[in-house]
This record gives sequence, C-alpha cells and structure tokens, in this order.
Amino acid sequence: AAGIGEVRIAMTASKPQRRIIAVGSGKGGVGKSTLTANLAVALARAGKRVGLIDADIYGPSQPTLLNAHGKPQAEKEKLFPVETPFGVRLLSVGQLVSAGQALAWRGPMAAGALTKLIEADWGDAEVILVDLPPGTGDVQLSLIQKARPDGALIVSTPQDLALIDAARAIDLFRKTSVPVLGIVENMAGYTCPHCGEVSDPFGSGGAEASAGRLNVPFLGRLPLSASLRESSDAGTPPAAGDGPAADAFHDLAQRMMD
Ligand code: ADP
Repeated sequence: AAGIGEVRIAMTASKPQRRIIAVGSGKGGVGKSTLTANLAVALARAGKRVGLIDADIYGPSQPTLLNAHGKPQAEKEKLFPVETPFGVRLLSVGQLVSAGQALAWRGPMAAGALTKLIEADWGDAEVILVDLPPGTGDVQLSLIQKARPDGALIVSTPQDLALIDAARAIDLFRKTSVPVLGIVENMAGYTCPHCGEVSDPFGSGGAEASAGRLNVPFLGRLPLSASLRESSDAGTPPAAGDGPAADAFHDLAQRMMD
C-alpha cells in the first residue's frame, strides 16, 4: 500500500493543478489576440489566478492590449512574468526582442523562445492562456509537445475562408489529442452607428454551422464593434470595464472553463 501511496504523490507532484488553454485560429486578423486578452481579464475578474503567454511570433500584441510594457525579470535563465494592470501575469515573445524588431525566427528558435515562456516562474497561476500564431505551424506543434495543453479554443470570423482554416486548426488539435473546447465567432454583425441598421460584413452564422458540422461546441459570438477596437488599441480591455462587452467576455470565459 505504501508503494501505491508513493506513486500517487509522485503523480500529483509532476502535474501541477493548472490548466493550459491554447487559443488558436486558422487565419490571422480574426481577433484571436483581442479575445485572449479579454478572456484572461474576465477570468481574473472572476477570481482566477491567470497567466497569459503571447506566442504570436508574427504579431505579439499582448503587451499593447494589456498595457504592460515592462521587460520580464530573469533569474538564472528563469523568467518572471510581468504584472499587468488587470490582474493577469504576462509573458510575450515580443518582450524578448526590442520594439519594432522582426521576430524572423526559424522553427527551432521559435520553439526555444516558447519553451522559455512555458518554463517561466508562473507561481500559483491556475489558468494559463496561450495566444498562438495563426495556422498550424512550428509554434503550435512545440506547444503541444512541451506543454500538453488541457484544451484549445478556436477563434474564427463567420467567413467561409476563415472557417476552412479554422477546421484545419481543429484537426491539428484533434490529431494530437488536445480537447477542442469550442469555437468563438468574432466580428459577427455590425450595427451602423448612424442609422442603427445591422449588417454582416463577414457573413453570419458560419462558425456556429461549422461547429455543428465538426462536432465541437459553439461558445458564442461577438459583434464587430468600433469601441472594442478603440479600447483594445488603447490598452484598456473592454472585459475590465462595465457594459455588454464585459458581460459577453465574462460569459464566454465561463463557458470556456466549463
Ligand atoms: P489576431 O490575433 O487574430 O490576428 P487581433 O486580435 O490582433 O487578431 O485583431 C485584429 C484587429 O481587429 C485588431 O485591430 C483588433 O482591435 C480588431 N478587432 C478584433 N476583434 C474585433 C471586433 N469584435 N470588433 C472590432 N474590431 C475587432
């Protein structure tokens, strides 16, 4: 019996009680980083200890979105995440190079950088969201190998082209046994600020239909919104404020964690 007890202790110690959730998309520019930032803030507001890894080597935007421009401290090669004003701890590939410098990394370098971010001192973080680059490349594969994510969230616009690529992203997670938590449809519907008429620049309902076809949960949709874009650019995530956008992110975060 003592032997079994020891095994159990060893197993608990090797797997910290922490959920790593990858946020991916097939295409770029669908709002994956914006969503990741706001979901992290919503989770922090709900009382979770949240970390965020910005692994988007093509456009690391989390330092801007979360208004955290400091460089991470390091001790013996171990990085310490930067505190953001929104209760989310952040490490970004963008923090590893100077502003404006291209992250022209080949696969192994990107994988090395990602490893540093994963193996950082995340302290007592309960959830770590990982903002992935778009697509199904080296960074995705490295993350799956090194961090064994507990789940993946897929962001898409309602547009067919984006959805075809979202299906590829889902396929990668499925083939590597990462549970797909669901699809979020972003930029669905736009209310004209002048006449109030609702239009659908990227179509409508496409992501929900795709989720049904691919047999993954549909977690919800967010409208195209000028105020969301403006406050995101200004480093004040809507999820940190009050109003319908904050409520929408709160609901999405809840559904993602269910
Ligand atoms: P990705 O990470 O998929 O490349 P981003 O999160 O960087 O996408 O978003 C791309 C651009 O679209 C940004 O300027 C962002 O502010 C804007 N954006 C994202 N979601 C919305 C939305 N729902 N309404 C309006 N603008 C949005």
